[in-house]
Amino acid sequence: MLSINSHCCRKQVHTAKPVKFFVLLGFCAIGSISVTATEQTSDTAANLVSRLTLASYKTTLKGLTQFGDRRQGTARNRDALSWIEKQLVQAGCDNVERMSFNYNPEPRAPRVRNPVNNHPDNLKTPTGGAVGRNGSGPGGASVYGYRADTGVNRDTAAQPDERIRALNAELPINGVRQQVYCTKIGSSRPDEMYIIGAHFDGHGVNEAVNDDGSGTALVMELARIFNAPDVTTERSIRFALWNNEETGLNGSKAYIQQRQKLQGIESPAGSGEFPEPRWLGMIQHDMMLWDHGAPRADGTVSAEQRPEADVNIEFQSNSDLATDSMQLAFIFKAAADSYNTDYPATVGPHMTNTDSTPFMNIVPSISLRENERGAHTGAGWNPTWHTPLDVWATFSDKDFRLGLNAAQTTLSAVSQLTGAEVEQ
Ligand SMILES: [Zn+2]
Repeated sequence: MLSINSHCCRKQVHTAKPVKFFVLLGFCAIGSISVTATEQTSDTAANLVSRLTLASYKTTLKGLTQFGDRRQGTARNRDALSWIEKQLVQAGCDNVERMSFNYNPEPRAPRVRNPVNNHPDNLKTPTGGAVGRNGSGPGGASVYGYRADTGVNRDTAAQPDERIRALNAELPINGVRQQVYCTKIGSSRPDEMYIIGAHFDGHGVNEAVNDDGSGTALVMELARIFNAPDVTTERSIRFALWNNEETGLNGSKAYIQQRQKLQGIESPAGSGEFPEPRWLGMIQHDMMLWDHGAPRADGTVSAEQRPEADVNIEFQSNSDLATDSMQLAFIFKAAADSYNTDYPATVGPHMTNTDSTPFMNIVPSISLRENERGAHTGAGWNPTWHTPLDVWATFSDKDFRLGLNAAQTTLSAVSQLTGAEVEQ
């Protein structure tokens, strides 16, 4: 079992002047391997973070919108994959590889959506307080506060923009699916890696800007920065863009099924090459932009970002590796405290419903998001989620900047965990 020793991954002291000192790096995640120290100038993470701009993040994200909602099993999904692949090659990322899997589900009946129920009786707590569950019944992840309706909108006519409607006209058919990843190969530990992921498929007759163009662009931006010619990392980093997240995490599950057993195997023997470096951690990014607060009593949500907007880092407290994953989450929070420019990060215990879930009993796993997945997203905090509103025009620079700050968090944390250096 992997373990992370909390005492070893101490928070970097952030100083105005670059000061050389020793930080103890990624061995934290590989308990049984002898402890090594990595010399890193204090400003390496800051240097890398300075290469990430709002403009470049938005440009990459805008590029993804040309393929509509990128729904799995359609030409627009395959075209998006080819475009992403080309960007990764241009970024200089090594071994850009496609992985295939089959997706042949039985047809199923359409889900019946729960209408929002704002009857006054449902807007009272048992003691008479004016807090409602909007008819969703007791319990659940969001016991307190109003809820809004959620669900996938597949009604093409619901998209008011004719161009976007036309982009999303094709319906999926069963068959082979593909996803893509590339790898920054570690200089001294090529056999160990962190996986940084997001899913490039979406749905909802939209441009899948937030879900999950925002995470996909983040991973692509980090691939660009870590693969700059003057950047080295001791450990490897894999940049993974999953397909079929929306149909049940099928892409990430297929990856585990096909590749878990290949971990750490040198192939060909003696080559120094590791097609599947040993997994040290999995970090997923899914819905990064929208933090506008809870729904009001009438189910509407503010068009403005809330003052408390933050990056939500979650681990799963019910997983086999809960303690290790929690410690990984707090390493990311410490990185956010040092390197985020606009928004703080918080840690929560309920990582769920995204591609890090299939990894969570195998390797320390966390997700970064705009909201807590269960308590917030599940209670309808994001009206763009799987709806025709998930289009470019919905989001402001404040929203895009929240996604950028999550990118800063992962960039700086992974820079420290993998022993990144910038050539002087
Ligand atoms: Zn998603």
